[in-house]
Amino acid sequence: MEDVWIMDSGCSRHMTGHRKWFSSLNPVSTKEYITFGDNGQGKVLGVGSVSLSAKLSLREVAFVRNLGFNLVSVSQLLDEGFEVCFKKGACCVLDAEETLVCSLLPFGQVFRVDLTIVSGPARCLVASPSADIWKWHRRLGQLSFDLLVRLSSMGLIRGLPKLRAEKDLVCHPCRHGKMVAASHIPVSRVMTSYPGELLHMDTVSPARVASVSGKWYVLVIVDDFSRFSWVFFMEFKNEAFGFVWDLVLRLRNESHKAMRAIRGDNGGEFEILVSKTSVNGVVERKNRTLVEMARTMLDEHRTPRRFWAEAVNMACYIANRIFLRAFLGKTSYELRFGRQPSVKHLRAFGCRCFVLKKAGHLDKFEPRCLDGIFPGYASSSRAFRVWILEAKQVVETCEVSFDETMQAQPPPLSFRVMMKKAPPSLRMRKVRLMMVMQEPLHRLQLLPPLLRAQMMKEDPCPRFPRHSPDSKLM
Ligand SMILES: [Zn+2]
Repeated sequence: MEDVWIMDSGCSRHMTGHRKWFSSLNPVSTKEYITFGDNGQGKVLGVGSVSLSAKLSLREVAFVRNLGFNLVSVSQLLDEGFEVCFKKGACCVLDAEETLVCSLLPFGQVFRVDLTIVSGPARCLVASPSADIWKWHRRLGQLSFDLLVRLSSMGLIRGLPKLRAEKDLVCHPCRHGKMVAASHIPVSRVMTSYPGELLHMDTVSPARVASVSGKWYVLVIVDDFSRFSWVFFMEFKNEAFGFVWDLVLRLRNESHKAMRAIRGDNGGEFEILVSKTSVNGVVERKNRTLVEMARTMLDEHRTPRRFWAEAVNMACYIANRIFLRAFLGKTSYELRFGRQPSVKHLRAFGCRCFVLKKAGHLDKFEPRCLDGIFPGYASSSRAFRVWILEAKQVVETCEVSFDETMQAQPPPLSFRVMMKKAPPSLRMRKVRLMMVMQEPLHRLQLLPPLLRAQMMKEDPCPRFPRHSPDSKLM
């Protein structure tokens, strides 16, 4: 027990009975006693600091005589500016910037601090021999490790090296995104015989925030034969028809074969085109896969949520290249275009990158590159799209280098920062509010309207656009 730190929501302060944990310890001048659960008492011998990991140091920890446990007080953590999350599958402590400080693991009826894993996958990238599998896991939209190893052994995708199965790989963004094996789609048989014969489609509104350019909906279209998919982002649902029509024309030009049917959802916007209304399992599964991938990708670098459209778009791009069509044993890409997809050029979503400045007007001592964030691939060329932080604009370029190792993003809306700006009356309620709220947006919506308006105005994360149709982001 002396090496286990238990999260305790009942105790008023951090405490331990083990001297060895203290990095500094000061004797107390007054007589102070702690009352235990069994009504016994322990004398406080001193107060000091305990460093549990590189990111989590506890201050004001009481050194208590005869205490058999090490307890972390939830209320003291909250007072010190940490945030404690208890979510199914993802219990953790976050700091004021909302970065992960430590995970919490179930321990009998309570939770203990996980002292073994203190940082995200970035750490594993540096030190472990499994760097390759991590790299491809992240480049391929957080694809499950099992599937990744299997795919790499099949030789169906160009540029994907042979990867070895590693035991006990734990990816934090995947845990947060609760990604399950969504790639095995059970189908009884292949109903169609060429790409473009039958399309499935559905509109969803995956996020509660508009995308950067003000889009709320995503139209997902899946080709039945190849399971190749397209995503289109819309401000209003009625824009769907135009996108569908364009795609139908494009596919007809491509294959010179007629489309036989389009199967939509029952929502009404495709009624003209629908041949049979049915529960649209194909496109719903695809939706779920894409949204899950996107969520995990956003989580990795804590990219602000309004970049969801970029993430969904990238997820679709990846999915077309890596998921195999059941029974046909080929990727969607190969079934549509007749050649194997390449993944050599793929990079991890949201990672930091550096774009070479155009030569000519450069001062001798001026930096040669611009810092950027990688949101996705250009649609019509082999270029990368890069969000230039300084210019707040997307450029399409090939002259870019990537840093896929580091955590690139500052955190999104920090609840702490918001609270510091809040009037004292509201600050008093912060603990209760924090219990209720987990998502940044929920947080905003629960705030009083006046404060909410103020929060929206003062963007705590000014590097990223809130609503900017001209930024060339989706
Ligand atoms: Zn992952």
